[in-house]
Amino acid sequence: MDLRDSPGEAAFRAEARAFLERHAPAEMPDYFDDQIDAETFVRHSTAWQKTLYEHGWAAITWPREYGGRGLGPLEQIIWNQELTRAGLGDSLFLVAIGLAGPTIIAHGTDEQKRRFLDPMLQGEALWCQLFSEPGAGSDLAALATRAVREGDDWVITGQKTWCSGGHHADFGILLARSDPSVPKHAGITYFLLDMHAPGVEVRPMRDMAGGAHFNEVFLNEVRVQDASRLGAVAGGWQVAMTTLMNERMAMGGFERLFSFEELIEHAGANRERLDAATRDELARLYTWVRTLELLNARVVTKLGRGEMPMAESSVMKLAVARIVTKVAELGMRLLGPEALGRRGPWQNRFLGAPAIHIAGGTDEIQKTVAAERVLGLPREPRADRDLPFEQLPRS
Ligand SMILES: Cc1cc2nc3c(=O)[nH]c(=O)nc-3n(C[C@H](O)[C@H](O)[C@H](O)COP(=O)(O)OP(=O)(O)OC[C@H]3O[C@@H](n4cnc5c(N)ncnc54)[C@H](O)[C@@H]3O)c2cc1C
Repeated sequence: MDLRDSPGEAAFRAEARAFLERHAPAEMPDYFDDQIDAETFVRHSTAWQKTLYEHGWAAITWPREYGGRGLGPLEQIIWNQELTRAGLGDSLFLVAIGLAGPTIIAHGTDEQKRRFLDPMLQGEALWCQLFSEPGAGSDLAALATRAVREGDDWVITGQKTWCSGGHHADFGILLARSDPSVPKHAGITYFLLDMHAPGVEVRPMRDMAGGAHFNEVFLNEVRVQDASRLGAVAGGWQVAMTTLMNERMAMGGFERLFSFEELIEHAGANRERLDAATRDELARLYTWVRTLELLNARVVTKLGRGEMPMAESSVMKLAVARIVTKVAELGMRLLGPEALGRRGPWQNRFLGAPAIHIAGGTDEIQKTVAAERVLGLPREPRADRDLPFEQLPRS
């Protein structure tokens, strides 16, 4: 395991840092600040995406022929770290650049690449992910949204949920069931959906922090041309795997989720509440954070060797969710009981932390991956794997 940047990585980091020092926007509103309206955030995010495009930083891992920088996951991690250092959080273009774009590059027709890729890079089209459904989250292959072929079109009907950014998206990557007569993984087709098409209804869902960042999306006999199908009919599961692999990479970088240094500053500013138990908790968190950094170094080393760190990413995700929660809880404790009656950054972190245990694969699912791939325990029984979807009991 190597804890330092190689000379090539250090050079890339220096180049990224120099670019961000010159061009990072002086002001980027916090997406999770419920005082900022969505339009303002879209405007700032779009302007920043255009700047990235103009200077060749719009997509680190896309091949050069499609307008990317042609670099690997390791450079993506370094770029994410430098963005965090520059005070820039998740971009609204994450689904476009991180998920939809790489999937279209891997599976799209020439026409789809021509039509969709450049507007993503230029900040002209926002995308959302329409995978989860009320009955299909961890078990994504259980999705029930139907796609029925009618001539050159598909007619799509169903309900999607937890669709982040669906309210300002122009397009969505969509999974639907085109053949219920085969086992659940085999009858899924992947589509590129125009979110402004007739029959697409987006309803915001409010989270407990007060924000409305994700949505339910109802699809009522939405017509999608066959030209907007991505990959083979009934080959959607394989295409979705490309998206999910890229999602892991795009979401990587724990630094943007918490800052131990900020917690220490916060503790220093609230010394009167630093009792023995709080100091003990701070010390414990410090050791967790340092352990996480070592785990991260292991992931980075594996990526550097061209290997995919699947089990390590699951363990990291579990650890990150736990640390984010503990940091937020301690941050709130340091503010004292009156913190409950106000809003502020620590309150936002506290209310946002539970989502990290769920998004991108829940804790329990990550534990199953760790149990099977790290500990070598027997695989979970998957009794419904070979049964036709239409014969599965559904609630
Ligand atoms: C902030 C946020 C943003 C999101 N954005 C999007 C988005 O843009 N697009 C999208 O498509 N989805 C999105 N999601 C949805 C996310 O992918 C799902 O929430 C996640 O996959 C879990 O699915 P679920 O919510 O249906 O929970 P379920 O799968 O129903 O799980 C419920 C509980 O049962 C447990 N469980 C389920 N199966 C097992 C098992 N086999 N073994 C042990 N325990 C199990 C889970 O761990 C969990 O505790 C988002 C979620 C969050 C929190």
